[in-house]
Amino acid sequence: MQEKWHKYLTRPAPRYTSYPSALHFNTAVGPKEYRAALENIGLYEPISIYIHIPFCTQLCWYCGCNMRVENDPERARPYLDAVIAEIKQVGDILRGRGVVSQIHFGGGTPNYFDPKDLRNILDQIEQSIGFTDLSPVCMELDPRLCTSEGIHALAAIGITRMSLGVQDFDPKVQEAINRVQSFEMIENCVSAMREAGIDDISFDLLYGLPLQNADIFADSLRKTISLSPERISLFGYAHLPQKILHQRLIRDEDLPSPVERADLAALADEAFLKAGYQCIGFDHFAKPQTAIARAAQEGRLARNFQGFTEDTAKNVIGFGPSAISQIDGLLAQNAKYISDYQQTIASGELATQKGVKANPMERRLGVWIDELLCRQQANLCDWYEIVAPDEGDWLALRQDLQQFEADHLIRLEGDEITIKPEARAFSRLIAAVFDPTFANQQKDRSAKAFSRAV
Ligand code: SF4
Repeated sequence: MQEKWHKYLTRPAPRYTSYPSALHFNTAVGPKEYRAALENIGLYEPISIYIHIPFCTQLCWYCGCNMRVENDPERARPYLDAVIAEIKQVGDILRGRGVVSQIHFGGGTPNYFDPKDLRNILDQIEQSIGFTDLSPVCMELDPRLCTSEGIHALAAIGITRMSLGVQDFDPKVQEAINRVQSFEMIENCVSAMREAGIDDISFDLLYGLPLQNADIFADSLRKTISLSPERISLFGYAHLPQKILHQRLIRDEDLPSPVERADLAALADEAFLKAGYQCIGFDHFAKPQTAIARAAQEGRLARNFQGFTEDTAKNVIGFGPSAISQIDGLLAQNAKYISDYQQTIASGELATQKGVKANPMERRLGVWIDELLCRQQANLCDWYEIVAPDEGDWLALRQDLQQFEADHLIRLEGDEITIKPEARAFSRLIAAVFDPTFANQQKDRSAKAFSRAV
């Protein structure tokens, strides 16, 4: 990590998995607005579906997800009925409009439930909304709950892509985050997935975890490469103990410094590129022949709530507590708590609790920011036309860009801004200077809930 970049490491930046971000959600958006947006989906408009499974058997201390530890699966079962009812509700509103482009099960832990319960959810989607064998069905899996039979059963019900939460292979790091899973366990999962015919396996890795250092992380990277997943997502651990209380179980003194964190990210970058992976956006890697790598090569890469994706559907419909839907500029989020969600769905209502309707400028700016993050390049004149900044804001932006250019983060050629490949870890920070809402929040110091840039 170049020394001149150190000053950027602790600056906050939004995640930009949506624009406006979830921090702007308010109760002006509710079931009525969500219903109206669903009614406006066109006959053949692609829809990406997200199903949230909010249960886990054990708490990982770094976790920032909306989940509940539930060791009695019977207590969790009514949740399955609620999700199925919600799918029916949405299907009744869609009345055959829309085409499912992808289904994604996330959590929590989707493999908390038996594959036949998950099959019931897929059956309901097929009945109420419809999908074809060509729609990829992706699932995040906790390797500690995987068995060879379970993986084969998931493949048999139609799961075509599997993503394993690996984080780090080192036993001491795993103890420090309360997530112990051996290399052999992950290796067995990958073997079972291959036997079951899964040819698109993804690993999630985290840098910035307690007790991680360059040697430990280099070993985890070697082990990852030896198992040859098709895709790798590399995220920085966001330590927010004031907001996420259980993260206080992680000792501050065990965390790598900002510079060490950035060095870990750079180490991963180098190792994966050397192993033949292609960089996707700024935090994903994929083998060059995968669908996502081809999308990046052909300028079709997109960004949604799961991060970078080859799925270009503009509509996302989320099911389950806290799930976010995005339809035609409307972002609508379901009730956060499982009990509230279940009660609302049981009463026959949509469970939307809050959201935001992007104005025309925000919609265009969201597309521009996606372009910068996905292609690492965008046009400044287009941004000027979208935002129409006053002279003071335009001057401030020019100053930021000149500083970025002097620090070798970006290249400015004519009207084009390009993020340098070696600086792509700073992509969100660079995007943030083009975001007037974020700039205003910075002024009134209300941006503390954003994660750090790297
Ligand atoms: S398995 Fe995932 S969702 Fe569950 S506690 Fe661990 S990190 Fe959180």
